Amino acid sequence: MWAIISKIRDLLLGSFIFKSLKFRIILLVLAVGTIPSVITRSVILKNYESNSVSSRNSDLTIQCNILSDYLLSTSYLRDPSQEAVNSEIVQMANLYDGRVIVIDSDFRVIKDTYGLYDNKTIISEDVMLAFSGQSSNAYDSENRYVEVVMPIAGNADAPCEGVIIASASTDAIVASMEVLNRNALILEVVIAIAIIALAILFSNLLIRPFDRVTQAITKIEAGYGQEVMDVRGYTEMESIMGALKQLLSRMKTLDDSRQEFVSNVSHELKTPLASMKVLADSLVTMGDGVSTEMYREFMEDITHEIDRENTIITDLLSLVKMDKTAGDLNIKTVSINAMTELILKRLRPIADQNNIELIFESVRPVEAEVDEVKLTLAFSNLVENAIKYNHKDGWVRVVLDADHQFFVLTVMDSGVGIPEEALDHVFERFYRVDKSHSREIGGTGLGLAITRSAVLMHRGAIKVASKEGEGTEFAVRIPLTYIG
Ligand code: ADP
Repeated sequence: MWAIISKIRDLLLGSFIFKSLKFRIILLVLAVGTIPSVITRSVILKNYESNSVSSRNSDLTIQCNILSDYLLSTSYLRDPSQEAVNSEIVQMANLYDGRVIVIDSDFRVIKDTYGLYDNKTIISEDVMLAFSGQSSNAYDSENRYVEVVMPIAGNADAPCEGVIIASASTDAIVASMEVLNRNALILEVVIAIAIIALAILFSNLLIRPFDRVTQAITKIEAGYGQEVMDVRGYTEMESIMGALKQLLSRMKTLDDSRQEFVSNVSHELKTPLASMKVLADSLVTMGDGVSTEMYREFMEDITHEIDRENTIITDLLSLVKMDKTAGDLNIKTVSINAMTELILKRLRPIADQNNIELIFESVRPVEAEVDEVKLTLAFSNLVENAIKYNHKDGWVRVVLDADHQFFVLTVMDSGVGIPEEALDHVFERFYRVDKSHSREIGGTGLGLAITRSAVLMHRGAIKVASKEGEGTEFAVRIPLTYIG
């Protein structure tokens, strides 16, 4: 049974129509509208039945009392052959569409209007009770009659001389109940139809704001450029539209930044190409008069521009890799001390060129779950910048520390520093404080963007503090255990 019910429920919940809010509203209104009337109908009918039966019962009891007195006054129990009394009894039975049985003190039936029990003996519980002076009555709803069993006695103290068993048909009650029920049913159906019509009307009204939202969204589908129209309706609906507006503006920002990125990329890639073209063109224009040295010089410049183009493309590829989802991380437990030492070892030759002192301070040994390749690239960029944007004979200090949750790598330098207004922008792609200087020293403006992406992929944070002319400090904080 439960299995069937749950199957029906699953079927309903899974069906397309039941998922519709409109359908649910209609169903709800219908239930709220009809269930009370069904309950009221059955309560009223039950009430009507019990009232009618009890009035029928008291009617019959009164008649039995009258009959009892009549039987006593005519001494019918001693002489049951009296025609007038007999016809009176039959008349009463007919009046109630029922049956009257009179029993004398020997429990013998002296009159049965049906003629079935004449001269038979009846010793039933009700009869015994009546002989002890107590009347009883009963309602048999199945066979549709009420029955009264009453002692025939002058008064309460007088000896019981016999018993009257009278029954009255309740067919009329049942018939009028049926009529009532049918009328109520018709009324209910009419009400239900009216409710369904109203429910459809209401649900359409209630659903209308949803349609407007769908319309608004469909309109936006053409492009993010369009404004989201204001949909008035419910508070909930307004908050959905608010969230949608936010989402759209975020998408618009993303779209804008992508466009800007593409145009920046094109520009950056075109610069070395333009230089190469100028160099090559000059060689062609100069024709035969060009010396071998000049050729070599021009060719070296062209090679330099090719290298630069290559660096930009390599950095772009690294950035694209960092932009991918965190699922692409190759997480392993890595000794951050060893990793940092290796980075510094690789960069030492560049530092030595400008006589820059490279110091590594490891406060404690640190092991963390990281993607070694990506984080090496991120840290290398920081240390390389600290060397690149430094003075001759300057210093770079790298400090590694950790608590029980995070490790912190700080890269400090005695370099040129970053102007305050530029601090917010240094992590942007292609941003360079001094474009020409950065270009001179081979910068692409992508290094810090790559570093930031790698740190964020590790659920870490990066901070920068700097004073122009004095030096810069980058601090990276990364969780020791990778949070997926
Ligand atoms: P770039 O390839 O030009 O070095 P980055 O993204 O690594 O690009 O850095 C962006 C800019 O931030 C640099 O052009 C530079 O002006 C500034 N910058 C980065 N690191 C430092 C530093 N340690 N000291 C001074 N300026 C820095």
